[in-house]
Parts: sequence; structure tokens; C-alpha cells
Amino acid sequence: MGIGNAIIEIAMENGATLAGIAGMDAVRVSPSHIIYNKMGDYGGVGTVKDEAALSDSPLFNWPDTVKSVLVIALSHPKDKPELDWWDGKGTPGNRQLMDIIKQTSRQIERNLNVKTRKIHYYVEKGGLFLKDAAVLAGLGCIGKNNMLLTPSHGPRVRLRALLIDTEISPTGPIDFDPCADCKVFCRRVCPENAMDEKSSIFKSMEFDGCLPGRDGAYNRDLCNMRMEKDITDSAENNTGKQPVIKYCRKCEFICPVGKKAGRE
Ligand code: SF4
Ligand code: SF4
Repeated sequence: MGIGNAIIEIAMENGATLAGIAGMDAVRVSPSHIIYNKMGDYGGVGTVKDEAALSDSPLFNWPDTVKSVLVIALSHPKDKPELDWWDGKGTPGNRQLMDIIKQTSRQIERNLNVKTRKIHYYVEKGGLFLKDAAVLAGLGCIGKNNMLLTPSHGPRVRLRALLIDTEISPTGPIDFDPCADCKVFCRRVCPENAMDEKSSIFKSMEFDGCLPGRDGAYNRDLCNMRMEKDITDSAENNTGKQPVIKYCRKCEFICPVGKKAGRE
């Protein structure tokens, strides 16, 4: 068995629903990593406004020895909404992903004698854009709802990555584009009309990539407004010490790829 397959098998045995390998060189020049530093305040947390500051920032400064990325996906079905309920410290789903990565890292180093590097979820703390890496690893494509769409679970997955210090053949991208023949239900269901038109930052920006939302028609500020409302609603409807926050997933659940896969 090749080293890539062995790594994927370890990740799956540890609980990953899907796993694949991306090349680090391709991740470094993937769409989100290219446009992020051109986005100014729209980039949100972690935006480097001064290009010169980049060298002092952990942003996208992974060691040159990193050659590959393991990307894992964890199924997040409709009947387990609690997986992404924010409880003040994190979410159960993310904790599960971190456990899978921790076990997988340990076993790769011990059994395959290959150096791995665990990374933070946030890009400003050394993480990478997971959806870009997942596409390159062959887990799926970017949908018009600006989420990763996987053939088996649609957008109902959550992602995490592990850096690997050895060259491994990538397992993607794959030929998969369910949005091409879709009536684009995701954009019609959004309560904030966040996918109705390009936000101004993308109107002026020329790039060849597929983010956000494939044609730029995704406004994160509007989606964030929904998140703020979700936070307020959770606080009002919860009597506990720390309100559990239930975020909007309308554009995720309406997508027929997740439904077709029997994940209703
Ligand atoms: S609802 Fe249709 S257009 Fe939207 S992400 Fe799913 S397949 Fe693509
Ligand atoms: S999560 Fe909700 S508010 Fe955000 S884009 Fe999807 S449907 Fe719209």
C-alpha cells in the first residue's frame, strides 16, 4: 500500500467520514489563499492589511518542509445539530475532528515514520483555507452556496487538516459539479439574501478562482448578520448559564446533493 493510502486508511479508522491528500504547493496558490490579502476589512479576522507584515505573521507561513496536506471530513447530519452548537469554548464536532487529527498524527508518525504538523482552525493562527484544500484533495467541489459539496454527503460535512512533511500524490481534484444542472435552491432560501449578488469587494476584484460561491455572489457580511441574530435568539431562548448557539444551515439543508445521498 502506498503511503497516501496508508494515511487515508489511518484517518478513516480514527473516525473520519472522508479523507484525501492535497499537495502543499497547490494549496499555497489556491483561490482563497490568493485573494485573502486583497480583501481588506472584508477578509475579517486574520486579514493582513500591510503586505510587509506578512513575513512576521503566521498567516500562510507554513514551513517549506511541509509537502502535503491530509484533509478530513466529518459527517454532520441533520439529526445531529448539536455537533456545531457553540458552547462558549467550541463545538462538539470540532472537538471530534481535533481528536481524529490527534490520533491520526500520532499513528502516522509512529507507524509510517513521517513528520506531521497539527494546525489551528483559524488562518490567522497558522491554519489554511480548508475548502480549497478539500477540493484539491478530491473531497468535492465548491458549490454555489459557498460550501464544499461532497458526492456522498453534499455540504453536510465539517473539515480539518493535518500538514505532512513528505511528498504524496494528491487524491484530487475530482470531476464533480452538481450546481451546473441545479435550480440553485440554496440562493433562494437564504433569509438574508446573502447570495443574491456580488459584494462590492468582488465586483472590483479580478480573479480566476471559484470563491466565494463560484461566481463571487456571496456576501459574508450578510451571512454574519444572520449569525448575530442566531446568537441573540439563542441567548433569549436559553435559560442555562452559557446559551447554546444554533446557527442557520438553510443553504446547507436545501442542497439536493445532501438530500439525494439519503441524509435528509
Ligand atoms: S442547491 Fe444546487 S446550486 Fe446550491 S450548492 Fe446545492 S447543488 Fe449547488
Ligand atoms: S447560512 Fe443562512 S444566512 Fe448564511 S448564507 Fe446560508 S442560508 Fe444565508
